[in-house]
Amino acid sequence: MILDKALNICLVGLCLIGLAACGQKTERLAAGTPVAHLVHAAPLTTPKLQVIATFSTLGAIVSDVGGDRIAVTSLVPIGAAPETYEPAPSDIVTLEHADLVFENGAGLETWMDHLLRSVNPGQKLVVLAPQSAAGSDGRVNPHYWLVPTYAELYANEIAAALERTDPSGTAVYRRNLAATRAKYAALDHWIASRVATLPPRRRAMICFHDAWFHFDARYGIRDVGAVEPVPGEEPSAGAFAQLIADARRYQVHAVFAEPQFSPKLAQQLASGAGIATVTDLYDDTLGGTPALSTYVGLMRYDVNRIVQALQS
Ligand SMILES: [Zn+2]
Repeated sequence: MILDKALNICLVGLCLIGLAACGQKTERLAAGTPVAHLVHAAPLTTPKLQVIATFSTLGAIVSDVGGDRIAVTSLVPIGAAPETYEPAPSDIVTLEHADLVFENGAGLETWMDHLLRSVNPGQKLVVLAPQSAAGSDGRVNPHYWLVPTYAELYANEIAAALERTDPSGTAVYRRNLAATRAKYAALDHWIASRVATLPPRRRAMICFHDAWFHFDARYGIRDVGAVEPVPGEEPSAGAFAQLIADARRYQVHAVFAEPQFSPKLAQQLASGAGIATVTDLYDDTLGGTPALSTYVGLMRYDVNRIVQALQS
């Protein structure tokens, strides 16, 4: 009994310290006010903004801008492909509890339309990819984030959306945005300098899926093609044979597969063309190590992998 009383006094004391620490007006306590109610009424920390990114690499860019003020969840799990993802019923619950949702768009997450019809988050959704014209084949390649200068544009949009949703964090978001843009600009220069170490005739890539189209255009690498241009649809025998011929014609040194897809077809192409296979190029998904858990870390890892494979 004495112990219970001592505990109650102690908790009320802690609560008062909490109220003062939060800068809130300390109210006179009514006799018999339940301690549990007081603890509930005076949270010691501000709850984080609940933010969704459709896939993990996009989530890493969102985290760079939001920092500690936000908690980021990605719908597509690490190691899975956003193009072929099949939403789970739990995704609807996750979306319903979100303060803000970021999507790449440009045809990447076609499943989001269906999912959002079940949730209707309205103005909570922000689409980040530039709405540019389709290529000569009528398709828009959605993988803009693999170019840091485009990722800077994403960061601008993310900061603006976070400010609209959480105006009291404006100073933090602007400070994070400035640091993020500086990091991404430095990354862009570093990539250009790494690619410049490759002799021009070695600057040619084939990937399993068509993720590096904008990257190749930015850094002067010939995009020879993709094993599976439409994720989830195996290439025809004719298209596959043509890609082997192109690999020889352009003296491509390696084919790059990604952890979210089976490497089998890439390995068949490599053996047909007599070239190497790299099976761990990360683009749509982060990896399981600290170095592969940030946008800049992932890009630096990939570029070193690309340069190393094309050089040998
Ligand atoms: Zn992709």
